[in-house]
This record gives sequence, structure tokens and C-alpha cells, in this order.
Amino acid sequence: MPDTDTRDSEQGLRTPIVAVLGHVDHGKTSLLDKIRGSTVIEGEAGAITQHIGATAIPLDVVSKVAGSLIDPSDFDLPGLLFIDTPGHHSFTTLRSRGGALADIAILVVDVNDGFQPQTLEAISILKQSQTPFVVAANKIDTIPGWKPNEDAPVQQTKEAQSDRANSKLDEELYEIIGELSDEGFSADMYWRVQDFRGNIGVVPVSAETGEGIPDLLTVLMGLAQRYMKEDMAIDVTGPGAGTVLEVKEEKGFGTTLDVVLYDGTIREDETIVVGGLDEPIVTDVRAILKPRPLAEIRTEDRFEKVEEIAAASGVKIAAPDLGKAMAGAPVRVVRDRDIEEVIAEVRAELSEIEVQTQEQGVVVKADTLGSLEAIANAMDEAEIPIMRAEVGDVAPRDISVASTANEDKHKTILAFNVDVLADAERKVEETDVKVFESGVIYRLIEEYEEYVEELERAQQ
Ligand code: GDP
Repeated sequence: MPDTDTRDSEQGLRTPIVAVLGHVDHGKTSLLDKIRGSTVIEGEAGAITQHIGATAIPLDVVSKVAGSLIDPSDFDLPGLLFIDTPGHHSFTTLRSRGGALADIAILVVDVNDGFQPQTLEAISILKQSQTPFVVAANKIDTIPGWKPNEDAPVQQTKEAQSDRANSKLDEELYEIIGELSDEGFSADMYWRVQDFRGNIGVVPVSAETGEGIPDLLTVLMGLAQRYMKEDMAIDVTGPGAGTVLEVKEEKGFGTTLDVVLYDGTIREDETIVVGGLDEPIVTDVRAILKPRPLAEIRTEDRFEKVEEIAAASGVKIAAPDLGKAMAGAPVRVVRDRDIEEVIAEVRAELSEIEVQTQEQGVVVKADTLGSLEAIANAMDEAEIPIMRAEVGDVAPRDISVASTANEDKHKTILAFNVDVLADAERKVEETDVKVFESGVIYRLIEEYEEYVEELERAQQ
């Protein structure tokens, strides 16, 4: 049986893809959990479809959670597909066909903490990719004097707002609005959102109590409906196109790809082209895997095989020769097209993400192509030259490359969200190469700059 989870054959519109981003500890994970939790409560069993790396919430469930705020007949979208971000926001930098993989985003900001370096990083990524977003001003339950209100959505009307007046919350919200305006946005405390460059909706929420989540979902649906990209209309039965979220070893399947499929379908046994470290990889799909429903999971059998899956979905693809596949790279189903054309398409998409390198500079390693691009942009701003930039763990070869640099300050590796392999670590000890590791771009750059200052002081 074909899998038709999120397919809307009548409209041919795919489920909008939503990314959640923001500073560490501001509540991204909690908010996603709460959104999932409230929809599980509201939805009938099985209404929420578990995906690989993503969660799909169908329109009827979104509208149940949003209550009176949403009239499902106003929307022709099938629902929302949330990318499950594992702790950091680099996944929001993932691309599809030259644009952002995410159609819309939630920027989570702790109301007490305001904008922090990763909030600014996130905003610069959103600006660059022109992704419409809503600000979730989170943790309102921690505001002194805040009274939870189970009956009314937080910001449904101005009247409701004045009923719930809380000067401390207002103060914090205005601060966020001020910070958005410093970034060139004008923001609105009400949930009506007019234009992603003009008015940004700031929705007060609590990932702890669930307050404001109906409002947040309403704004998201509004944004999705308003800013549906042209490619939201999908060729429901066409050859699949997707982006690799992660390259993972899976017991019994070898190297597999976790993929967000944003267009068309993918079937078992089909030939696919995947962006690889050196060259595009051409291989045949051995299995398409979905996670089994939670109740059915046995440790050795977490996946269900399906013959076909349609966009937008998060799936796992098992196929031979995926060792050099890159997270963030495109995946294309060949089907009845010319294979050389598809390879050229994948190459073209990869070349857009390629980082400018120079003769002399540091080595950068990152977990995905998207994060590599984000780091490269930040390094460009900080005027730090890059000699080599690649996706993947720090390997002995990287140490060799870094050690060839002319200047000490360039005998350096900046490792973003990747491991340093054991034999690379041994090699570091034998050389004068320095490795900086972090999951936060600005921290990597800060540490590097401090190191360079230290070197310069030592040389004086
Ligand atoms: P992430 O790093 O952005 O994914 O943040 P987490 O979701 O891990 O949250 C960081 C911490 O803040 C955790 O201890 C959460 O329990 C807490 N937290 C998140 N959202 C809220 C909220 O709305 N209210 C309160 N009181 N705590 C929250």
C-alpha cells in the first residue's frame, strides 16, 4: 500500500515545513514537545504521524488545538510538518532548490532573557533565506504575577489582552519588539501577522503550561497560507525531491539517510542521486522506512518498510554506497528522467552552497552543508579566511591539511557539531594544530579570535 500520510491529492499542496530555532535553553525542545503533546491530547489516536526527523500535524488536529481561533475551511493546506531540531538551529539552514527547506519558522525567545547571540544568528539566517517567522516569547509562566488562564487564548483580542494586563510581561515583550526593530523588523504583539518583513507576530507562550500554543499555531497557519512558496504546489506523483537531514548507521540497514521529502514521491528500488562528499552518489533505494507507532516499537524493529512515500514527509532511506553522503545535500529520484541531467541538477544545487576558500586559512568541519554555509558567512564577516570547508567529523587528513598552513593562526580547525575521530586526536598531539569544537557558531569564532590575540601577544 502506498503511504499517503500527508498527501493532499485534491489540492496537490504539500504540508508546509516548519523549523523551530532560537538560543540554547530558550525552550525549542520543550515547545515542540508541548505542541506534539497538545495535539496528541486533542487528536484521535494515530492522528499525529510520526516521521523520521519530523512530526506531521494534520489540519483538523491543528484546528482542534487552536479552538475558536481557526476555521479549518479557511485553509487549503494539509497541516504542518515540524522539523524536530536536535538542540541547535543548524537544521534551519538546510536548503531545498536554492531556498530554505523550511517554509516558515518559529523563533523561540525566552521572555526573561531576550535576544542572545544565537537569536541573532537565527535572525540572520532567516533574513538571508527570506523565511517568514513568528516569535514565540516563551516562559511567560515565569513572569511574576502571571496568572494562567485556561479558557482564553493569550492574545486573541485586544480586550482579552487588557484583561490579562501584566506590566512585567508587557515590559519584556516590548523589549523583544525593540530588539526586532533593531534588526529591521516592525513587530506586533497581536497574533495577526501582515508581512514577514514588515510585521512580525510576537506570541507570548509557555512551553510549560501550553498557554499561547493555540495562538502560535494560528499564526503559523496564517503565515503558511500567506507565504506559500510557489513550489508548495507539488507534483504529487512526480519523482521525489528531498534534503538529507542526517547520515546514520542503522543496525541491519548499513548507512542510511534521514530525509525530508518536500516534493513528489519516492519508491522502493528506484534509482536516486544524492549529494556526496566528492561526487554525487548514484544508488538504488533498498528500503524506505518509517518509524513504527510508539506502541509497537520493539528495540530490534523500530521501522516499518513502505513501498512508496509522498511529500512532505520525513523518511529514512536505506541504500548501498551512502558512506560519503552529506547531511544537508539534495536527494533526487531519477525515475523516467535522464540520469545525467539529474546528476547535473544535484551538482548545481551543491555548487550554490559551496564555500569560498583561499590558499591560506583555517579548516572548517561541520555537521551539515547548511551549517557549513552559516559558519562560512559568519567567518566572512569576522574576516577569517577559510582554506578548506567540509561536512563530516574531524579526520587525520584534516589535521594534515591544517598543519600545512604557513601561519600559526591558520594551523587551526573549527569543528561545528562534529566529533574529532580518535586517530585525528592522536595526530593533533604530534602536530601544532589547534582544534576548536562547539555547537555554537559565535562561540567558535570568539574562541578562535581569542586564540589569535594570544598568539599575537606572545609574538610581541
Ligand atoms: P532548548 O535548548 O531551546 O531546546 O531549550 P529546552 O526546551 O531544553 O528548555 C530549556 C529549559 O527551560 C528546560 O529546563 C525547560 O524545562 C525550561 N523551559 C522551557 N520552556 C519553558 C517554559 O515555558 N516555562 C518554564 N518555566 N520553563 C521552560
